Amino acid sequence: MAGTHSNKKIGIIGGGVTGVITAIFLAQSGHHVTIFEKKELLSETSSRTTKLLHGGIRYLESLQIKEVKNGLNDRHWWLKNFPNGTKKIEILIPFKNVLSMKFIKYFFGIKFYELLSLNKILGKGRVILKNSKLNTITNTNYKNYLTFFDGAMDDKSLSKKLRCELKDLEVNIFEHYEVQNFNVVGQIDEFNFDKIILAAGPWTKILLDKNNIESEKDIDFIKGSHLILNRYIETGFMFDGICKTRYVFALPYGNNTLLGTTEKRVHSPDNPDIDNEEKDYLINSFNLFFKDRISEHNVISSFSGVRPLIKSLEKDFHRSTRDFHIQNSKNLISIFGGKWTTAPSTARKIVTIIDNEHLS
Ligand SMILES: Cc1cc2nc3c(=O)[nH]c(=O)nc-3n(C[C@H](O)[C@H](O)[C@H](O)COP(=O)(O)OP(=O)(O)OC[C@H]3O[C@@H](n4cnc5c(N)ncnc54)[C@H](O)[C@@H]3O)c2cc1C
Repeated sequence: MAGTHSNKKIGIIGGGVTGVITAIFLAQSGHHVTIFEKKELLSETSSRTTKLLHGGIRYLESLQIKEVKNGLNDRHWWLKNFPNGTKKIEILIPFKNVLSMKFIKYFFGIKFYELLSLNKILGKGRVILKNSKLNTITNTNYKNYLTFFDGAMDDKSLSKKLRCELKDLEVNIFEHYEVQNFNVVGQIDEFNFDKIILAAGPWTKILLDKNNIESEKDIDFIKGSHLILNRYIETGFMFDGICKTRYVFALPYGNNTLLGTTEKRVHSPDNPDIDNEEKDYLINSFNLFFKDRISEHNVISSFSGVRPLIKSLEKDFHRSTRDFHIQNSKNLISIFGGKWTTAPSTARKIVTIIDNEHLS
């Protein structure tokens, strides 16, 4: 598409996955792009995920159909463009009883998830009844399983590849640069741009407030923590945590297991860290489900991030939307919300806005 519109000078504040993918798409479209990142590229929220590329099967429960479909399309984009940093993964959901409403609901939920994937389906889920091998791993109360497929990523490997792509596209990168001031006219500190993209994840509203720019949305700071365990597992599991309000994932992570996540409202996105309550919750949830129990001694490390969730009217933030919102104010475009997986959808939307502007 380069050359079909006037090339613009674009400044992006924030070098998380949203800022990086947006920079790549804009540079591919012929624009001159500069990224300003307070720390290092992809080092904040974008490095603290469950490492899944997904439509979000559990968001079907709250009927977020459009968001799930978007996620499934973007999941396909990642697996197609980065076959070496991504792979498909089969995830098992345990059930005590196949004659329960829960089993039936999930059976049809998985079929619907596969249907929404259309020709981008990664594999057909299975029904596993009374499998003796699984009974040696998991609590014997759970004899039956439904499975589904999603994407898994190695974000360290993807970060290296994305960095190379930015370099090839001649995107200017300022790391360890904390933007202090910006405005709707196109100024970032002493630099002038035709357009600014504010892609600061959970910091978006804080930065808008600091610069006296109105926000259309508010951000709910929801911390999520993970443990890395010195346990090898062959496949992924998604099971009820001890509080049953959300699922816990146990996923293969090299020779270890990635266990997460929690959801806890916090006051600030700065320096999130796991607390004892979260640690106990994850360990106890693991022990409720797996036969071979763990304690703190099995924990190699942990990491936490703050989801940039758009604040909803729902009291229960477990059900709040994972969708993104784009605010367009003169020469400033601000991004709220989203997931790692859906960064390409966000970026595509921004390229469309910018490339169509000169036409109007
Ligand atoms: C626990 C957890 C698990 C998750 N799991 C998944 C998952 O499995 N799959 C999935 O798709 N998504 C997942 N997500 C969501 C995903 O992590 C985020 O949606 C995504 O990483 C947000 O990227 P971002 O670029 O918008 O934000 P960030 O990655 O936070 O990037 C924003 C950047 O802005 C920078 N910044 C802030 N202020 C300034 C300033 N003044 N000047 C310059 N730079 C600044 C920050 O340093 C930061 O690097 C998870 C999130 C959490 C917290």
